[in-house]
Amino acid sequence: MKILVYNNDTNKMETYNKELDDTMPYINDNYLTVREFRGSSNSDVLWTDKKTMEAFNKLRELYGAPINVGYAFKRIGEGGHSNMSQHYVGTAFDVGQTMGEEGRDKVRSTAINNRIFTYVEPKYLTPTWVHIDKRNPSPACSTGGYPVIKQGSKGVYVATLQDALNLLGFNAGVIDGVFGNNTRNAVIRYQRARGLTQDGIVGCDTWRALTFQVANSR
Ligand SMILES: [Zn+2]
Repeated sequence: MKILVYNNDTNKMETYNKELDDTMPYINDNYLTVREFRGSSNSDVLWTDKKTMEAFNKLRELYGAPINVGYAFKRIGEGGHSNMSQHYVGTAFDVGQTMGEEGRDKVRSTAINNRIFTYVEPKYLTPTWVHIDKRNPSPACSTGGYPVIKQGSKGVYVATLQDALNLLGFNAGVIDGVFGNNTRNAVIRYQRARGLTQDGIVGCDTWRALTFQVANSR
């Protein structure tokens, strides 16, 4: 299986080929397999970043026992949190479904107290699992969501964009997490088709249109 990892330290996309039972890149032995990270996704390519994998290592160390992962990698439209919140493909985990309440409480408090993740969903929103993620803290919309990306951007959000454009038939090329000419041209074609400002920049309006359309096309 092809795995793209954005290296936050070098600002480069890295490509790995791994089997489902292999351990994910940058993950300590047996903490998280490719199969666990992929979960129920239909994608034949996965993407994440180094800081997300390192955050999972840290949580696992501090928790001190295996953490079951119910869902991690979910593309736009592959299930989630209804309208209350967003999952963030590649940087988010839903864990603790088999742990019981006490275990989940400990995972939540460990993640919050050590500031390992950007966001830990409050218990009242998801009482039967723990959502944790390393989202970008500056969303394009005031209501949250993905950040503004444009030509030259790299990382998980670019891969998510390319995947969404490809799903809708606006060929952005091979998913590589790098916002180049092919991706920009696909964005402009999409913006034209949807009556959006044709600037090739993926901001609030374009993300909203893509997310809505992909989620409703499945
Ligand atoms: Zn989630």
